[in-house]
Amino acid sequence: MDLSRFPRRRYTPFATPLEFLPRFSAALAESCPGGQGPNVWIKRDDMLGLFPGGNKTRKLEFLVADALAKGADTLITCGAPQSNHCRITLAAAVKEGLKCRFVIEERVPNSYDTKASGNNFMFRLMGVEAITVVPGGSNMAAEMQKVADALAAEGRKGYIIPGGGSNALGGLGYVACAQELQQQLFEQGLRIDRVVVGSGSSGTHGGLLAGFIGNNIRIPITGIGVSRDPADQEPLVHKEAQAVMELLGLPLTVPREAVQSVGGYWQPKYSIPNQAMVEAVQLLARTEGIPLDPVYTGKIMAGLIGLARKGFFQPGENVLFLHTGGLPSLHAYEAQVLGDTPVAG
Ligand SMILES: *Cc1c(COP(=O)(O)O)cnc(C)c1O
Repeated sequence: MDLSRFPRRRYTPFATPLEFLPRFSAALAESCPGGQGPNVWIKRDDMLGLFPGGNKTRKLEFLVADALAKGADTLITCGAPQSNHCRITLAAAVKEGLKCRFVIEERVPNSYDTKASGNNFMFRLMGVEAITVVPGGSNMAAEMQKVADALAAEGRKGYIIPGGGSNALGGLGYVACAQELQQQLFEQGLRIDRVVVGSGSSGTHGGLLAGFIGNNIRIPITGIGVSRDPADQEPLVHKEAQAVMELLGLPLTVPREAVQSVGGYWQPKYSIPNQAMVEAVQLLARTEGIPLDPVYTGKIMAGLIGLARKGFFQPGENVLFLHTGGLPSLHAYEAQVLGDTPVAG
C-alpha cells in the first residue's frame, strides 16, 4: 500500500519496539487452563513521539499534515475530560506553531475539573487556547463547527479533527503501523499468531485491519471494546477500515467477518475503573515494569488476560498486544490502581 502520496509529518523518528514479555507470560500461564498460556509480545506505541505519545500520534502525522496543507492556524478537536487524544493533538499543535482548542464532552455532569492531574494538567501546561465544555450526548461535530466559525469571524482558520482522530485520513496512521510491524516481523524472523488491540473510536483497529488486508498480512486481529460491545463496535470498525481502503483507492472489500471484537471488559462504563483493569495494570507493572493506563490499555490487557484464562489462545501461540499509550491518565487514578480506593467488580 503506497502511503507516500499523502502529506505526512513525522513525530516518531524510529519504529516502536516490539518486545517479548517473558515474566508476564509466565505469570499469566499460571492462571490459564493446564498452566499453559500464550507467549505475549508487546508493540510499544506508548513510546511514540509527542512524548508521552500513544496511538493518536500516528493518526496526527497525516491529519496535521493535511491541516498545514490547507493553511490552518488552529487545530480543533474533542474528547472526554481526561482525553489522551486532546493532549496529543495539543502537543502536535505546539510543535507546529499552531493554536489548539478543545470541545470537552462531560458525560458525567460537572466532572471536568480544570485543575485535575493527568491529561488535564498537560492541557494547561502546554497552553491550550480555549476549552468549551458541553454536556454528554451533545453533537460534537456541530460544537466543533461553532468553534471553527468563531475563529473564521476573526479571520483565522481552524481545522477540525474528529474525536480520536478517527476518519479515513487518521486511519492511515495505522496502515503505516501495519507496514512497520510487517517489516519488524520480517527482520526478526518472528511469527505472530494474533494481534490484540483496543477498539474505541476505531481508527486504530480499523486502520490496522485495512493495513493487514491491503498488505496481505494474514494475522487475525481481536479488538477489545473500550466503550461498546461487539454489536455496536464492529460496524464502526468495519466502516473505518472500508473508508481507509477507499481513500487509498484500493479495490478491496473488508470482509465483515474480519472485524472481531470482544465486549464486557469496559464495564461498568467507559473510563470508570474496574477490578480486572486494576489486576492487569498491576500485573504488567510488577512483572515487566511497563505502565498501562486505567481508561484504555488496562482494560484492553484485562481482555487479553480474560481471553487467555478462557482458553481462547492456543498454548504457545504468539499473541501481540498493541500498547496504545495513555500514561498521563494513570496519574489521575493512582489510588484506584493501587487498590487504595475500591473500584467496580
Ligand atoms: C484513543 C485510545 C485508544 C482507542 O483507540 P481508537 O483509535 O480510538 O479506537 C486506545 N488506547 C489509548 C491509550 C487511547 O488513548
